[in-house]
Amino acid sequence: MDSHIEEVLWTQDQISARVSELAAEITSDFRAAAAAAASPPVFVAVATGAFLFVADLVRKVELPLVVDFVRSDSYGSGTESSGAPAVSLDLKVDVQGRHVVLVEDIVDTGNTLSCLIGHLKSKGASSISVCAFLDKPVRRKVHFQLVGDGKFYRGFECPDYFVVGYGMDYAELYRSLPYIGVLKPEYYT
Ligand code: 5GP
Ligand code: MG
Ligand code: MG
Repeated sequence: MDSHIEEVLWTQDQISARVSELAAEITSDFRAAAAAAASPPVFVAVATGAFLFVADLVRKVELPLVVDFVRSDSYGSGTESSGAPAVSLDLKVDVQGRHVVLVEDIVDTGNTLSCLIGHLKSKGASSISVCAFLDKPVRRKVHFQLVGDGKFYRGFECPDYFVVGYGMDYAELYRSLPYIGVLKPEYYT
């Protein structure tokens, strides 16, 4: 274990098992829609935090699909959201009339997802689902609205700690840890 980590909340094996379950659920939910739609669903990952999760997830979803990225900035390098996210890197793929699965590392206040859902909706996505690996419901300030028959998929409910690893950073560090853990307080100042 990295010496900066106080406690591991989810191990690599636990993460992998849960990602498999989410992928199976998404595969079964999207099978009919994918067959009926003219073009495959678009998995839009929120950079940078969702890069490992989306890589693991899409390799386990047994359907043709498209992957793209967006970036939305609100956090800076601290542990508290500034509350006013903006889209800072836009999609490459045209999502007009397509099913979108927005892939996030963690939902906290809900500001980022609300902003991104509004953005994707304005581009004409026919449904917007959210697949977030972690969810901190006690921290929610904004209740994001799914679009069309979109669903909310989540890996685990996260206790109210600032967590790192499996893509998630503190000041851009710790993203490469294969597990999710709590940082020792002396490492965030
Ligand atoms: P929200 O806009 O929902 O408040 O926050 C969304 C983003 O803040 C997440 O996508 C993530 O990048 C970051 N975030 C929220 N909670 C945590 C946390 O516990 N650890 C880390 N590393 N990032 C977090
Ligand atoms: Mg994120
Ligand atoms: Mg961050």
